[in-house]
Amino acid sequence: MNIHEHQAKAVLSEFGVAVPRGYPAFSVDEAVKAAEQLGGPVFVVKSQIHAGGRGKGRFEGLGPDAKGGVRVVKSVDDVRTNAQEMLGRVLVTHQTGPKGKQVNRLYIEEGAAIAKEFYLSLLVDRETSWVSVVASTEGGMDIETVAHDTPEKIVTFGIDPATGVWPFHGRTLSKALGLSGDLAKQAARLLGQLYTAFVAKDMAMLEVNPLIVTADDQLRVLDAKVSFDSNALYRHPEVVALRDESEEDPKEIEASKFDLSYIALDGEIGCMVNGAGLAMATMDIIKLYGAEPANFLDVGGGADEAKVTAAFKIIMADPNVKGILVNIFGGIARCDILANGVVNAVKQVGLTVPLVVRLEGTNAELGKKIINESGLNVIAANDLSDGAEKIVKAVRGLA
Ligand code: GDP
Ligand code: MN
Repeated sequence: MNIHEHQAKAVLSEFGVAVPRGYPAFSVDEAVKAAEQLGGPVFVVKSQIHAGGRGKGRFEGLGPDAKGGVRVVKSVDDVRTNAQEMLGRVLVTHQTGPKGKQVNRLYIEEGAAIAKEFYLSLLVDRETSWVSVVASTEGGMDIETVAHDTPEKIVTFGIDPATGVWPFHGRTLSKALGLSGDLAKQAARLLGQLYTAFVAKDMAMLEVNPLIVTADDQLRVLDAKVSFDSNALYRHPEVVALRDESEEDPKEIEASKFDLSYIALDGEIGCMVNGAGLAMATMDIIKLYGAEPANFLDVGGGADEAKVTAAFKIIMADPNVKGILVNIFGGIARCDILANGVVNAVKQVGLTVPLVVRLEGTNAELGKKIINESGLNVIAANDLSDGAEKIVKAVRGLA
């Protein structure tokens, strides 16, 4: 689960991290009020969307010369005019995709005088099961570009969960960033604070880009991006409260209510499958036959009729879906229950695209009978490859 920059900074400041002062604003009036409270002389008006690259992003309808999604201004009046221009407008960055994201909130922050920009992030290294620290002197830009062009400028080290952060970790970080004296002390302190926050809040990733040195030699977190481990959200209701559903795919929100593992994708074949492995195999084989899956969906082993009905409705609600492939291998899941769910959902929302069903395993015969007697226009498939071939043909109008 992702949160906004201003929320990430608020979370980090609970752990003592020094961040610039600022206030979120949902309207022009709130932006002006925030600026008045900050007092200036320099303000930063920052678009709050769940994507990076805002500074270099482009607003729809504003022409190529307009400023991006992060604007440094010098008066309350300029905060007002920029807020007016930015709020409600769609911002396109290299992370949003061409569709962009509508800016519904801003963060008004006091401006900082930047002497240096660094990159610093913490993430879980799945190979070692440790938290990894990634640091670079090349801050403020795309870390992927730095990794590609000048990998030697990226320093990575791990933190053993059994010991946590030690002074030598701080020295490693300071060396990587070329810091000494008081700034080295600040870096060591910051690393401890970030690590504590990361572990305490079950973060999956914490990225500070840029981490800056100010003109008066203070280390400051200028941008913060945090994502949390969804599997640990049950122990952090205060984190769940930060969720901004307007930033998420409505189909995925609906799926999460029914505890379905659903990820929306860009293709045209909707998939309803049980088991993550079978779902992956189904997506692969759809690609093999020349089409693209519209989603990943694992209805799970204990799927009941209500869950299956919900899953089918979510697939049908996707306007990109030109055909549906139901591929069930009944083990713990029973084919008759799955079949009833499909029939129910179709009765409720109608079936406007071809549907191929492959049922195998527990109660498969009963499941097939339910579908056959439902009067639905279903194409039966014998196995996975047959099913994929049939749905791709049907969508291409060849069936
Ligand atoms: P991102 O583009 O989405 O990563 O947004 P950032 O928060 O990183 O802002 C983009 C860039 O705007 C930063 O890399 C800085 O160069 C610049 N910026 C942000 N805040 C300030 C500020 O307070 N003062 C100055 N001078 N520049 C800023
Ligand atoms: Mn940034």
